[in-house]
This record gives sequence, C-alpha cells and structure tokens, in this order.
Amino acid sequence: MKKNNYGSKKNNQKPQQRVSNFDPRPKGKEEYAKVNGGVFVYSKPVTVAELSKAINVPAPAIIKFLFLQGKLVTINQLLDDDSIGNVCLEYDYDFKKEKLVDEEHFEDIEIVDDPASLKERPPVVTVMGHVDHGKTTLIDSIRNSRIVDTEAGGISQNIGAYQKDVGGKKITFIDTPGHAAFTAMRSRGASVTDIVVLVVAADDGVMPQTLEAIDHAKAAGVPIIVAINKMDMPGANPRKVIEELMAHDVIAEEYGGDVIVTKISAKTGQGISDLLENIVLKAEMLELKANPSRYAIGTVLEAQLDKGEGPKATLLVQNGSLNAGDYVVVGETYGKVRRMTNEYRAVLKTAGPSTPVSVIGLSSVPSAGDRFMAFPEERQAKEIAEKRKEAKTIASRGGSAALSLSDLNALVNAGKIQDINIVVKADSDGTAQALKANLEKMSTDSIKVHVLSASAGAISDNDVLLASASGAFIYGFNVRPDARVRQKAEENHVEIRLHKIIYELLDEMELAMKGMVKVEKVEKILGQAEIRHIYKISKVGTIGGSYVTSGLMKAGSKVRLLRNGVVIYEGTLGSLKRFKDDAKEVKEGYECGLTIDGYNDIKEGDIVEGYEMVDKEAA
Ligand code: GDP
Repeated sequence: MKKNNYGSKKNNQKPQQRVSNFDPRPKGKEEYAKVNGGVFVYSKPVTVAELSKAINVPAPAIIKFLFLQGKLVTINQLLDDDSIGNVCLEYDYDFKKEKLVDEEHFEDIEIVDDPASLKERPPVVTVMGHVDHGKTTLIDSIRNSRIVDTEAGGISQNIGAYQKDVGGKKITFIDTPGHAAFTAMRSRGASVTDIVVLVVAADDGVMPQTLEAIDHAKAAGVPIIVAINKMDMPGANPRKVIEELMAHDVIAEEYGGDVIVTKISAKTGQGISDLLENIVLKAEMLELKANPSRYAIGTVLEAQLDKGEGPKATLLVQNGSLNAGDYVVVGETYGKVRRMTNEYRAVLKTAGPSTPVSVIGLSSVPSAGDRFMAFPEERQAKEIAEKRKEAKTIASRGGSAALSLSDLNALVNAGKIQDINIVVKADSDGTAQALKANLEKMSTDSIKVHVLSASAGAISDNDVLLASASGAFIYGFNVRPDARVRQKAEENHVEIRLHKIIYELLDEMELAMKGMVKVEKVEKILGQAEIRHIYKISKVGTIGGSYVTSGLMKAGSKVRLLRNGVVIYEGTLGSLKRFKDDAKEVKEGYECGLTIDGYNDIKEGDIVEGYEMVDKEAA
C-alpha cells in the first residue's frame, strides 16, 4: 500500500493540526524530474529542455528523434508520457512516473490513518441491472420502507443519495441506478461504491445490461450482491437466474461462491429487509472503516445552480467529517460550507464518513465526480484552489496542447520557439499547396515552419485532432469549420485562424514570426442556419427558408454562405423574417426566412453563417 504522511498522526490530535502536519514531498524543480540510478524519475510533465538536461542528451537530438517518430515538438513544449518513455528508452534510461502527492493533488492521496483512529463506516451501495428489472422501484421502496420506527421522518428531498437505518447500522444508497453514472464517476477517478446490488428480474433472467453491470463492478473491484426481483410474478424462475449468473462467474453462496443472493419483490416489499440485512452483513465482511476525526475528503455526487441559494452540491463524505463552516476545495474552486442538510432537510453541524449531504456555499457549481477536500482555513483553501486552477491550465495547454498565434507571438518574443506547426485548409488544393509553400518559405535559421497537412475542404474533426496532437494551429482559407468542429477546437485549445486574402494570411504569419502580431479586431460568430427550402419571389429575389442550427441569425449582420464547408459568398444579411414579420433576431431551434443582399444563388443544404467583428477582448 502506498504510504504517505497525510494524517497518519496520533489520533488525539486536534483537527487544525492535521492538515498543517501534512509533510509534502520536496517540490523543488530539480526534484520533479531527475535521474536516479539510470532511471529518469518525474512527477510532472517535462519539457524537451528539462528532459535534455536530466538525461544529458542535447535537445536537438531529442527533437530530431521525436520528429522521426512523427512528433513535432519545440524545445519548451511539455512532452506526453509516451514521448518521454520513448526518448528514455532510446538513450538507455529506464523511466518512472511518480505521482506527486500533496494537498494540491488530494485526489491522489491515499490516506493512511492510525488504525486506532478508524471506526466502522456505512457501506455505500449502487443499484445496477438491466432496464425494467426494477432498480428504481427498489431504490424507492427501500427509501420509503420503515425498518426501524425511530427513523427520521419528514419530507425527503432528493439529493442523489440517502441513508437507511437497518437495526442501528446505516447503509448509504446512491439514488441514480445503473452503470452510466457509476462509470462516469469511475472515468473521473472517483470510486464511491463499496457494494453493487445487481437487480435481475426473476421472470426475465440475465440480460445484456446485467452483464455490463457485472463487468463494471468487476472492473472496479466492487463486490456484488444479487437481488432477484419480481418474485411476485407468475413466471419467476430464480433458479434459472442463479444458473445464468454462474455462467458469468457470479457464483451464489449455495453453489460454493461468495455472492449473496436475495429473492425480493420491489413492488410488494417481500425480501427487502433480508436484502438490507445482507448488505449490512457484506459490509461487515468488508470491514469498511474510516477516521471520523479528520477533515473531510470525498466526492461530488451531483450539483446544480439553485436560483435562490446559488451553487448547491451533494457531497459524499468518504473519510473524515465535514463540518458546517469548513472551507472546501472542489475541482479548481473553493467555498465555505454555509449550510449542510441531509435528505430530510435536517440541518447538520457535522457529517461523518459515508454521509451524503447537500451543501450550500460553494463559489461555483462543481461536476459530479469531482473530489473535494475540507480545510480549516480560508487562506489555505484559496491557495490550494488557485494552485489547482493553474495546474489545470498548464495541463490543458501542456503536452500536446496546441499553439495559438498569441502564444507564438510571446514565444518568439522570448526567443523560445524553434518550430511552428500549422494545418492548412483551403477552398482548393492549388491554394492549399501554394499556402504551404509560402508558409514554409518563411522558415528562418531559428524558426522552422512545418505545414503538417495542406488540403482542400472544410475544416474537419480530423484537422483539429491533428493540430491538437501536434501543437499546431489551423489556417483556414475561404473555408470554415462548422459549429461542432469549432467546439471541438475550443475544447482542445486549437486555434483556428480564418482568412480570405492570401497576402493578409502571409502578412499575419510573418508578423507573428517576428513577434509583432497585433490582433485587434476579431470575428465573433453569431450562429449558423441551414437553408432547407428555396422560394423565388420575383421582386424580392431568392428567399432561403432556413432553420437556425446554432446561435442566432441577426438582421443586418455580416454573413457568409457555405456550401460543403467552402465559402462561396460573403455579404450582408438582407431581410430576416419569422413567418410574415420582420425579425431582429431568430434563435437556435427556430425557422426563418432570409435573403442575402445582392446574392440569389442560394441552394438547399447551404449554410449561412452570421458574424460580427468585435474587439479581441470582447470575443
Ligand atoms: P428500472 O428500469 O430497472 O429502474 O425498472 P423500474 O423500477 O422502472 O421497473 C420497471 C417495471 O417493473 C415497472 O413497471 C415496475 O412497476 C415493475 N416492477 C419493478 N419491481 C417489480 C416487482 O418486484 N414486481 C413486479 N410485479 N413488478 C415490478
């Protein structure tokens, strides 16, 4: 088991000391990338320069080696793990990536508590199974069943999870059944579930999603309890279910396996209390423990923006206790736990391990699956959130993140760039090749321009992928990306620069290479509409019966007409109508009629893109 000092102190310590007693590993620059006995050990992405220094291989040799492998990198570019590994192997170094473990990376902390401080904690249960086998009915029927009379009453609120008292022991149920949520959490590195209850309908048997659920539970290493549901149905055949499950390595206790099987009817309530007792039994076997007297660490189950109360999140405390007034870092933001309620709207002062609570006071809406950690002081939470934000920005630009023209400008000014990678798309192959030749001709002794690909056609997903993987930006000449590709580019931090006059494109590039680019006015896309019908009206001209597919259409705005991703006309939106009336704007999802000033050759399937020129800051 990975060991670190986080919180592994004596259990009689005051909470305030716990965090400050954290003993982070050395964070010096030389410490995160160094050679140790022939092994290159690193804990953060490194640049070519840093790798070069550590393994004592000249940077140009590394760049050349990677180039021959099809990767174009610059000396100050952060390398991905594959490239680092390949370079190390090429120069006879072994390599190892170490996880940096400190408060800033609290997701990676595996808390090693003093055994004496550990207390039993409730199991967290997710219900999975095939559609219509009764997951929702089971979750609801458990929620509404009264096993113990003393159980808290009151009107429940749906916070994504709830706790059930079973003979003095608690069970935490995650409300969202099915493996989609479970897997989404896991793909984000969060594992909240201790036990999966696999619901199989007795009258239907093992079905495709039953098998998927088994795979997901096994992949996550989470034990399964089988609930054979719909036992009230005439066609119920539990024996068949048990045998079918056996074929998939889910072996019931009665067949010598370790899987507890309970026969239930979520509808009539039959067998539910047995199921709950079996969950408690399984939890005891798993010896689930946590240390309630430490600051909380856990996962966001769900979150939304509440109109009156601001960001509202359901947090599952996984270790420690969350207290009203604690400062919590979630994702890259932090906030104060202003109010904490349980599923019965009762206000809590403290919530121990495995407790789901609805929390108000965060500064933004986190995502489900985000990890959180509580801190005693605002200053500390703020500092850590800021560091995480910075790290995220670097990570999203680092490695293979693409280069933007303003980055390029700054890098040139700092004398830090040697290669510029570009993807060129143009309205014809001849233009694309001409641009490629002219751009590459701009290479100087210190800066090489590489056009990775130059072809005709609309800017596509693939162009964005190529640019993103090779730290390039895209030049589009008389072609456009559609809204989907544009979004993909944004997600991948790929800059798309669009031009319609060759010398302007080349001028811009030349200035960028001299570090002198000034981008003042930029284009802001308003939206796109698809032409679905053509109406020719003698005095008006051609009207395009259109459907706004993204953003909006705005009367009088600049527009360009795209056919198969190629710009065939640029002009101004003539008239814009909703039914018979003139409209100032027509939004996404609505139909409209439009004309383009001085242009009549519109065709069905054409795309009209509206845009405005705005100051760069406003873009
Ligand atoms: P889910 O898709 O797995 O969440 O399934 P639901 O809980 O929505 O249930 C699907 C259908 O099966 C609904 O019509 C339920 O009323 C019914 N159902 C669920 N459990 C039982 C049960 O134990 N017995 C019977 N007869 N019907 C059930």
